[in-house]
Amino acid sequence: MKKVLVLEDESSIRSFIVINLRRAGYEVVEAETGEEALEKLEHHRDTRVALLDVMLPGIDGFEVCRRIRAGNSRIGIIMLTARAQEMDKVTGLMTGADDYVTKPFSPAELTARVDALMRRSGGSESSEGEIQQDPFLLNTRNRTLEKNGERIKLTQVEYAIIKMFMENPGKALSREEILDMVWGRDYFGELKIVDVNIRRLRLKIEDNPTNPTYITTVWGYGYKWGF
Ligand code: CA
Repeated sequence: MKKVLVLEDESSIRSFIVINLRRAGYEVVEAETGEEALEKLEHHRDTRVALLDVMLPGIDGFEVCRRIRAGNSRIGIIMLTARAQEMDKVTGLMTGADDYVTKPFSPAELTARVDALMRRSGGSESSEGEIQQDPFLLNTRNRTLEKNGERIKLTQVEYAIIKMFMENPGKALSREEILDMVWGRDYFGELKIVDVNIRRLRLKIEDNPTNPTYITTVWGYGYKWGF
């Protein structure tokens, strides 16, 4: 079942989202506060994507995101941010969200984002086994990454990015290509999401994230796996 959690305190916006997601074939769990969302996720462990509003009466959306991620790296998380909260987008992604949608958004935009994350969390599309590139070992069967034998916890999007890099070692990939490969061709988000996800990934995998040697920047173009 394709289950989505919607956390939004404004009932008119929440109904708008819920109606449109149901129309798109999703089963929807609703929550009005962060506390309620966390509680409902406990009972709906098969939820694959969570939409989290940032501004809420109790704990805010970032905190909810942080708490979800503490116990679940698989679920896809999309933050709902208000226009002009540019910093919020980055903060949200750094706390572990995969994507953000800026209000006001169209139903088509929203479902496209949810569809993209659903595909990511849909389990392994291949079972070729392992990709070994010292010090990394990527297991494509159980979708895990190890560095020097130690497991690194990744979100679905981070996993997809690493897999893409390890399948294209030494090749400069443009941000557009990365967006297409990881988020899908029909995704219409901003290129910035590529940069923020890579920034977060570097914090997890690089020896020195401020001087990355595994995911290197190709200035004015994109990124490259390797040196
Ligand atoms: Ca709100």
